[in-house]
Amino acid sequence: WRRLRDGLSRSSSAIGQGITDIFTKRKLDAGTLEELEDVLIQADLGVDVASRITGAIGKGRFDRQIDPAEVRDVLASEVEAVLAPVARPLALDPAKKPFVILMVGVNGSGKTTTIGKLAAKFGAQGRRVTLAAGDTFRAAAIEQLKVWGERTGAPVVAREQGADAASLAFDALKLSVENGSDVLLIDTAGRLQNKAQLMDELAKVVRVIRKQDDSAPHAVLLVLDATVGQNALSQVEVFGKIAGVTGLVMTKLDGTARGGILVAIAQRFGLPVHYIGVGEGVDDLEPFSARDFARAIAG
Ligand code: GDP
Repeated sequence: WRRLRDGLSRSSSAIGQGITDIFTKRKLDAGTLEELEDVLIQADLGVDVASRITGAIGKGRFDRQIDPAEVRDVLASEVEAVLAPVARPLALDPAKKPFVILMVGVNGSGKTTTIGKLAAKFGAQGRRVTLAAGDTFRAAAIEQLKVWGERTGAPVVAREQGADAASLAFDALKLSVENGSDVLLIDTAGRLQNKAQLMDELAKVVRVIRKQDDSAPHAVLLVLDATVGQNALSQVEVFGKIAGVTGLVMTKLDGTARGGILVAIAQRFGLPVHYIGVGEGVDDLEPFSARDFARAIAG
């Protein structure tokens, strides 16, 4: 929680400073509420959430002086109410062996790093993990995943750059069954520049996996970079359409002023948020908590 609070400090201080500036020595009225709404929209919370919050703060408090701390309290509880329905842990069904997780998202969003962090987490829980270096487009992604494999002791199925991602995924699932893995994590390429090609590639990966296990993939996790702000909304839309996303991981919440985007995404899409990334280290992945996040962002 401390790491989250520190990580979100740039988001929360923008909001907190805005609240203090607006409500110090001024009454709560239509004008100050409108200014507050602007601050919240600036902080990427989205228009709907911003008006929900100002509505809640305005209720019964018109025309009187209000302590900025009281505003922050209402803000925190409203944000928590928006986030609570989506804060759902990633449940690994032990009946699925392996439990197949497809990781999707644009390049640079933190997919490969998140796979490494998840591999470490699952490994620490005593689960056997296999990794598939399915981002065959980038040599660096393949190398990076191999390093995570060494670090976490998870076997990595990898081929040369440019290899067919679907047949690699097929081999990885076969190996996972043979070696008794509990979880298979599959990396994918995130070239949103060529949507049709990306869609074809992901569809082919899914088709090939289903040939071996018609219930797989059991989770499709979209990794989103918090620092891109509003762009994350369109990424959810696009990947939701082409990849059947079942849940979200938001990375880089350390040190960004744009953490509020997670609230807008929760409100708009209602997709489960499983984890958040708060740094580059192996332990910097935390289960998502609505309460902690709301308190951290409200300052
Ligand atoms: P991919 O292209 O989606 O696989 O993205 P990578 O996993 O290669 O990550 C891109 C960059 O973001 C790397 O430098 C990572 O170390 C960094 N990164 C990933 N997650 C986080 C995070 O939660 N916080 C920070 N600060 N950096 C992160």
